[in-house]
Amino acid sequence: MASNPVTEMLSRNSNFVKNHKPSPRMQDFAPINRASGKGVIVISCSDPRVPCEKILGFDDEVSPGKINPIVIRNAGGRVSDAVRTIGVMQAIAAPGYIAVMHHTDCGMIHYPDKAVRKTLREISASEKSEFEGMEFGEINGSIGDSVKEDVAILSKSPFVRKGTQLVGLEYDVDTGKVRVVE
Ligand SMILES: [Zn+2]
Repeated sequence: MASNPVTEMLSRNSNFVKNHKPSPRMQDFAPINRASGKGVIVISCSDPRVPCEKILGFDDEVSPGKINPIVIRNAGGRVSDAVRTIGVMQAIAAPGYIAVMHHTDCGMIHYPDKAVRKTLREISASEKSEFEGMEFGEINGSIGDSVKEDVAILSKSPFVRKGTQLVGLEYDVDTGKVRVVE
């Protein structure tokens, strides 16, 4: 088979399998996670330059009773995209904390909504009513402002349990440092 990204990923998976230990079963894992109060959701960008599992030092292996972060990644790390998953995670993990982490030099600064719509018109001109009015989460102020905006949305969201600790973070792609915005 000729090498392409998929065959390469499957080949890498063969190496992963060699050291993999079975994960705990969901019926054991979920109740302990819910009771631990340590559930954390991190909402971050899909950008491959922002591997938040590495940036924030998450363990490769999950186990009941310790911090097992739930990562939601989407374009920009925008909350508007994440609500479905946050809702599901209330049932599975009852997270006590939600962190929103945006990053410097994000694609959502360089590719604002009008650029996204332009591309979609090229792909699907006949379907443009689907996306002409849509917001894609562009960031047109500072990263600190977009983080605050999303934390404010979460603070009013019916998908977030009252009392959940909300944290806004900014990741600097140059230094690797994460700072607390609020
Ligand atoms: Zn980004």
